Amino acid sequence: MRDALSSRVQHLSSSPTLALDEKVKALQTSGIPVINLGLGEPDFPTPLYIRRAAALAMARGFTHYTETPGILELRKAITRKLLSDNHIHYQPSEIVVGVGTKQVLYHAFQALCGRGDEVLVPTPTWTTYVEQIKLSGATPVFIPLLPPFKLTAQDVQNKVSRHTKALLLNSPSNPTGAVIKKSELIKIAHLAKKKGFFVISDEIYEKIFYKGQHHSIASLGAGIEELTLTVNGFSKAYAMTGWRIGYAAGPKWIIQAITSLQSQTTSNTSSIAQKAALAALSGSQKSLNLMFREFQTRRQFLINALSKINGISFAPPEGAFYFFIDVRRLLKGKIRTSAKWCARLLDEKKIAVVPGEAFLAPGYVRLSFAAPLQELQKAVEQIRDFTQEH
Ligand code: PLP
Repeated sequence: MRDALSSRVQHLSSSPTLALDEKVKALQTSGIPVINLGLGEPDFPTPLYIRRAAALAMARGFTHYTETPGILELRKAITRKLLSDNHIHYQPSEIVVGVGTKQVLYHAFQALCGRGDEVLVPTPTWTTYVEQIKLSGATPVFIPLLPPFKLTAQDVQNKVSRHTKALLLNSPSNPTGAVIKKSELIKIAHLAKKKGFFVISDEIYEKIFYKGQHHSIASLGAGIEELTLTVNGFSKAYAMTGWRIGYAAGPKWIIQAITSLQSQTTSNTSSIAQKAALAALSGSQKSLNLMFREFQTRRQFLINALSKINGISFAPPEGAFYFFIDVRRLLKGKIRTSAKWCARLLDEKKIAVVPGEAFLAPGYVRLSFAAPLQELQKAVEQIRDFTQEH
């Protein structure tokens, strides 16, 4: 019967990180304790002031359809945020709010890309981009990066062709935590203007940044904002993964196309989530700093602890909350792939991490530190024992 499915869906890979999470949840439900360092979701509750705003919205009956691209107040708040944090000038008509950054990205690829187009994707990468690009009919063209996985303009130039429609940027990166240098972003912006390709810049980890500061490519030089779609959301910065709210900012004609698509798929995202997002941007950013400080402590702990384990290596993440660890020197005997390494670690030590295969980078594993310090301490001990036993 599978043949009856559309070829689009037959060739679709489902999210490997969500698949791992289902396996972990099944083990946990059957009473087996697992330390889950697989998921890309902050382990903090959504700050109380945001939840209160949502409760108030519900109590006041703000529970109906809204404008498809999101309520004007929220789009205005997003333009203020983009101006103060990212130094990019947008009008509310240049913003569309959707059901998570994931949906906004999906619509963006659908709106901009199609058969015959190529989209440049630096790897290791979050595979959602790859599947979404394929669903648009376009072809992903990979730019394989070596540790520390920092994209340069030369890397991009090497892969640009006359079919290049867009370049996907994700800085700080999931899964590597790497950040693209400002000087390289400036050169990439020049290249995009010279060659006439678009830049889709997923900046969802911009607030989780350990060194220097975040730079948005759309702010780097005249004319690049005309070719850039800046995509962001509330999931990571405000621990709002379940609220499903993200946005894109860019030229009005692209935003209008995305809005039209959205009007035929989900319409607006939840009215309550929109009020919560408005509160997130308008309220005190203190809780954001508290979360960030906790991430900093965990990162430092892991840099020290992981560097004592023989056979692994890593570049400390500059942003996001992942370590992308090279385990190639440990692959031997019956454990010849990072997928197998992760499966055995889960079976034997009940520690869940994601194999690099899920990010088009076999030989590596992604360890998320969106978990309490005590769990990270236990996990590191178990990983050390595992590496000594095999
Ligand atoms: N972009 C990146 C790089 C991510 O890692 C994720 C989630 O893991 C998302 C987007 C999805 O974010 P949202 O929850 O807003 O759909």
